[in-house]
Amino acid sequence: MTVVFDERSALLIIDMLNDFIEESGSLVVPGAKRIVPRIREILEAARSQGVPVIYVADSHRRDDREFAYWPPHAVAGTWGSEVVGELAPAPDDYVVPKRRYSAFFGTDLDNYLRELEVRKLYLTGVLTNICVYATALDAAMRNYEVAVFRDGVASLSEETDAFIFQQLKEVLQAELI
Ligand code: ZN
Repeated sequence: MTVVFDERSALLIIDMLNDFIEESGSLVVPGAKRIVPRIREILEAARSQGVPVIYVADSHRRDDREFAYWPPHAVAGTWGSEVVGELAPAPDDYVVPKRRYSAFFGTDLDNYLRELEVRKLYLTGVLTNICVYATALDAAMRNYEVAVFRDGVASLSEETDAFIFQQLKEVLQAELI
């Protein structure tokens, strides 16, 4: 399916990192590898339409407080913290490191979006109910329009995805693609 992006939009690719996606990663999301080819298509469409591509990437210290309740993952400087090879950032893409679920919390994302005069965010990545949802919520609170590719996100279950899609639509007025 061809993707046509709206004016003044950006594509966000959230946490498509080796630790979450590849078999030998430290916190693998089973089934998340299946969304890689679809995100690749979306990514190529964005690049060909001149839409800014922004990677949001977990980047933790070895002793991050998050590791009290998640196995260690995406430690800065390690293989696990890198974007998967098939979706590797191009030199002109943006890469925004984050330490928490929301791509806005304590990051440069909002500054970049203002500099680029972006009004609408297209979201892809993992997990639908954690970092994708937290980012959608923060984007909506900042009056950005939000669109989510249903086949470009993944969580641990279809039930979770279905619930979050309903929340996105009914609570945040997000567009589901
Ligand atoms: Zn994390």
